[in-house]
Amino acid sequence: MLDSREVPGGLDLIVSPRPGTDPKAAFTRVAKELMRYGMVPKLLKTPDGRLYLLVRTVRRPKPLETWKSLASLAICLVTVWISGSLMSQSLLELVSKADVQFISSLGSSLRLINPVFFVIPLFSILGIHEFGHMLATKRWGGEWEPPIFIPGPPPLGTFGAVIRSAKIPINRDEIFDLGFSGPLSGFIPAVVMSVIGILTSPLIPIEEAIQLAKEEGLQFVPTPLLFDIIQRLLSHPEGMTIIMSPIAFAGWVGLVLTFLNLLPAGQLDGGHVAYALLPNPKARLALGVVAVILAVPYSPLMALLIAFFMLSKHPPPLDEVSPLSKSRKVIGVAAYISLLILTSPLSI
Ligand SMILES: [Zn+2]
Repeated sequence: MLDSREVPGGLDLIVSPRPGTDPKAAFTRVAKELMRYGMVPKLLKTPDGRLYLLVRTVRRPKPLETWKSLASLAICLVTVWISGSLMSQSLLELVSKADVQFISSLGSSLRLINPVFFVIPLFSILGIHEFGHMLATKRWGGEWEPPIFIPGPPPLGTFGAVIRSAKIPINRDEIFDLGFSGPLSGFIPAVVMSVIGILTSPLIPIEEAIQLAKEEGLQFVPTPLLFDIIQRLLSHPEGMTIIMSPIAFAGWVGLVLTFLNLLPAGQLDGGHVAYALLPNPKARLALGVVAVILAVPYSPLMALLIAFFMLSKHPPPLDEVSPLSKSRKVIGVAAYISLLILTSPLSI
């Protein structure tokens, strides 16, 4: 420590790291320790290269009460159930009119065309996505912070879930982990549901699907690249297309939500990844514009919303000095880009 000054509610210190110590790791240790006592440190660098350590006492907002999270889950279960019922009804009507086939005998009983097979797969994807965020928060010394589920209109019945975190991230590594952990966790059940879903979806000739689209309002939707690959791997016959079963639709939604969440804009999960990786705001803005364009095929409304998100400034971590770790720059970013490509609307 080179100098110190007492200020209301804390201390300002000019520090110099001991030779051989990593300031990032040392600051993380200090931050975790101080946070236990309701204090928050901040690490800044002056243009002449001196490190400033500010320590303040803060009153942290309380995490969301569990009953509020459970109440939002209950409401959301009802709206998703209604969406699943409407979907199952119209699907059963369509199947009764068309001459359908199945890739697997699993789907032919039609018992899987039932709202419960939309509700359970969709909530397992949403739940595991949020659990990923919760686990990352806990790993970085935070509290368990339950998500709030947002109900919505059909066809989905939900806008997903959010966690209003009370914890200020320590450094860029934590921002990266908090952002990427959700989509990475939710991606796994989304793939599982897509595989089971495609195996249990009715297949019809493409011409017949075009006819049904005209007469019955059947909709063609943009396909995530991985969804397309799974269909091909499961020897989906040429000239045929699937009418998504409730499980397939939940898997499709899971992949699309993973993609939209991964877009590098504002406070989206991908926005945190971009912030952690790119300190330059102009580079992040350029990426955000690309993100908005990429989101248009899935949902023009969502693209507009993401453009709106970009207006909000990303809050900095406590350690504003240290860059993202090498392993996250290499392995983490490679995983992020792979997931983004696999869930993008790039049909082959
Ligand atoms: Zn998320």
